[in-house]
Parts: sequence; structure tokens; C-alpha cells
Amino acid sequence: MRADIEELARRRGFLWQAYEIYGGTAGFYDYGPLGARLKRQLESEWRLFYSLEGFFEIESPTIAPVDVFRASGHLNCFSDLAVVCSKCNAVFRVDDGITAGGKCPECGGELEAAGEFNLMFQTRIGVPKGEEGAKRGEGYLRPETAQGMFVNFQRLLRFNRGKLPFGVMQLGRAYRNEISPRQSLIRLREFTMAEVEVFVDPEEKDSHPGFDTVKDRMLRLNPADGEECETSVGDAVRRGTIANEYLGYHMARVKEFLERAGIPSDRLRFRQHRKDEMAHYAHDCWDAEFLSRRYGWMEIVGIADRGDYDLAAHATYSKEDMGVSGVIPHVIEPSYGLDRIIYAIMECAFTEEHVGKETRRVLRLTPALAPVKAAVFPLLNREELKQKAKSVFQSLKRRVVYVDYDESGSIGRRYRRQDEIGTPYCVTIDYQTLEDDTVTIRSRDTMEQDRVRIEDLPAAILAGIGFHGV
Ligand code: AMP
Repeated sequence: MRADIEELARRRGFLWQAYEIYGGTAGFYDYGPLGARLKRQLESEWRLFYSLEGFFEIESPTIAPVDVFRASGHLNCFSDLAVVCSKCNAVFRVDDGITAGGKCPECGGELEAAGEFNLMFQTRIGVPKGEEGAKRGEGYLRPETAQGMFVNFQRLLRFNRGKLPFGVMQLGRAYRNEISPRQSLIRLREFTMAEVEVFVDPEEKDSHPGFDTVKDRMLRLNPADGEECETSVGDAVRRGTIANEYLGYHMARVKEFLERAGIPSDRLRFRQHRKDEMAHYAHDCWDAEFLSRRYGWMEIVGIADRGDYDLAAHATYSKEDMGVSGVIPHVIEPSYGLDRIIYAIMECAFTEEHVGKETRRVLRLTPALAPVKAAVFPLLNREELKQKAKSVFQSLKRRVVYVDYDESGSIGRRYRRQDEIGTPYCVTIDYQTLEDDTVTIRSRDTMEQDRVRIEDLPAAILAGIGFHGV
């Protein structure tokens, strides 16, 4: 986050370094009261977005026995290369610009290869009795939510009355013991993923029933072996840049969700993985990337065609049938990292404007995600206005829920406080209110004020905070 937005996020209760009183632990963050509310709303919009698609949600444990990760490949393949500084001993993940033989970004010392590290957190399930027991209790915190959906494939298929295709989603915590988590919400050791697995007959990947509805949408694509281009989903699939209609359809939907969440399309692109960087499971993979002012392009959603890799692997290891009439379904997976998306949303929303001599800081959050929807103020600190304002606040709360009441400081200061946390509407009670039961409602974005009747207030606010148009 830009220094200013980071400071604002901390001061106003969006984000805190976790375990701060003990010096903080890298890779862990707390969402404060406003941040947690923003995140919950993003999660529910995401749920609604894919529920409307007809997908169902499950919730599986965050700890799994080693067998799951032996089959999924994570035990052997989910690792990063590390380098260590020969001077200050700082450890870094090998990345663009950081390699053995290079210079330490912290002290300038020489970096040396330090081998591969598996990123999964290991744990023990149950109380081990002897060596054999310890082996049997070997477990891991999940590094993605996907496996919980794959291992339940046959039950999910039956739930869907034996028919393909169908989509399942899961939202929850994932854990990766990242080697050098130094960048706030971008590289965490515990983070929230929102994943969808679409199970489809491999013969049908080229004809998605909803493809017509997205085929004219434009995507900015960075193919692995070609120039960046701005192209319609339909053309990209026809030319084979995007492997099939299912993948194309879901890329378009990912873009739609991110735009609705407040990330403008000129700061989004899709970058295809080169063969040598593709995860062990992927056939074709595109990252939806966000252009951060501070970090440059960064992945916020991965959209992979996982082929039959996962179900075939679990069939081999578990000896259970993972097919449908002899065919192993393929999986298309949009995998969202919600913390990075929250970072992106906040970076995009934060604006500073100069109004006369003053700087107006506004968090232009999509109203559906704003932690406070409306704030109610008495214009002046007078008993009769305060009483009326409190009663308006109480009745508004019943309909709009996330409403604030503020009577402290000048009215200008109260507006500024709400602008900073992204409150879309401020409602002011003045002397005219006492006469005719009307209030002023000020919009965060236009700063225009309207007079509305108190009884029309909830409807006026609710109309302005929709996300899906439903
Ligand atoms: P992946 O399975 O690595 O493609 O990750 C899927 C999504 O999870 C990415 O697009 C990121 O948004 C998010 N993600 C992955 N690793 C981390 C991390 N260490 N911290 C925060 N988000 C992450």
C-alpha cells in the first residue's frame, strides 16, 4: 500500500500487523473492525456472484492428513528456492532480481543458494504413540482449499444427481510458510482464498453454455509466446490463445467480479504462465494481474485448466473411482486470493484531492463494500438536534445496518472522517428537520447534497449500495 494508504489503514482500523505487542510476526495480519467488515462483505459478494452461477459451496477442514498432499503433489512439488545472504543471514525467495550470486537487498552482501523449501506447515494429528504413531499422525495445514473439493468429488457428483458439468466453491484460510513475506497483504503466511472448481467432461470444454454472454468482452492478454494484446474473449478462444471456452468464460467472469469490486480495467491484465513456471497440476494457466503503484504487476487471481490431474491423482492414491462413466472430468479453477484483492481495492479507492488549501482524502470504495454505509450527524451540538439525529440513526440502523452516529467536532471534520473510511452517504439533521422531517444527504463522491424525507432515507441509501443489481 502507498505509505499514505497504509498509514490510513492502520490508523482507522482496517489493518494491523499481527502480534504487534510481541514485535510482530512477518506474514500475519489482523483485520481491524473496518477491515474485517470490508472483507466479510467482499466474501459475501463473491459467494453471491458464484451462487448466481448455480455453484454450491462446501466447507472442509483446514488440516489434512499427509495422504492428501502426497496425492496432490504438494508434498514433493510445492516448494520455493531460497537464497541466504552471506553477510547478514537474511533469507530470500528466489525471484526476479533475487538469485544466488546477486546482492542482498537489505545489506548488499552476496547471496548464496540455500536449497528448496516446502511451503506447507506441518502438524501432527492426534497424540503420537511411538514412531509408527507419529508417522500416521502426519498432517499439513492446507496450502489451498481446492483439495477439499477434489477428495469429495463422488459425493458432490451424487449431490448434483450424477450430472456434469457442475461447479463447487470454497472460501477459507490457506497456509503457506512463505520464505520472505515482507510485503503487507501481498505475501502472507495465512491468507484467505476463494476458489471455484468447475468439473466438466473433457469433450465439452470447448462449448460453454454461457459463452455467448461473454464472447464480446475485451481482455488485455499477455500470452506466453506472443505480444500483449487487447482482444475479445471470443477471438482469443477462436485463435487458440485461450485454450477453450470454459477457461475463456471464467476469465471474463473473473474480470467482471474484480471490476465490480472496484479495480478498473486499465489496471488489470491476464498473463499466461510459461511452461516452465506452470504449477505441477496445470495444463494452461492465466494470472489475473493488478497493476499496483507500489509493487508493479502482481497476481491476484489464478485461473487454471487443471485437466484431469487432481482427480486422476486421487484415484491412483486412494484407489477410489473418480470418474463418471469411465471418464475422468477436467477441472477449470478460478482461484482468488482475497487479501491481495483487498489490497488492490484499497489502493484503487484511495484518492487525495486538493480543495482550496485543504487535502481531501477519500476512500472511493464500491458502496457495497464500504464498512459504513451512512453516517448520521446533528448539524450542531444542540440537545434538540442530537435527540432527533439519534432517533433517525436508530431507525436507519434497522434497515441499513452498518450506520454510524457522530456528534463530535465540526461538521467539516466529521465529513472528512467519513470520507477517509469510504462512507458513501452522510445524513445531517438541522433545524429544518425539526420543522418538516427532511434531512440532507451528502454523497461522498460528488459532495452534492440533497434534501430527502426521513421516511425515504433507507430506500435512498439502499438504492445506492447494490453490487449485483439484485
Ligand atoms: P496460487 O494457487 O499460487 O495461484 O494462488 C492463488 C491466489 O492466492 C493468488 O492469485 C494470490 O492472490 C493468492 N496468494 C497466493 N499466495 C499468497 C500469499 N502468500 N499471500 C497472499 N495471497 C496469496
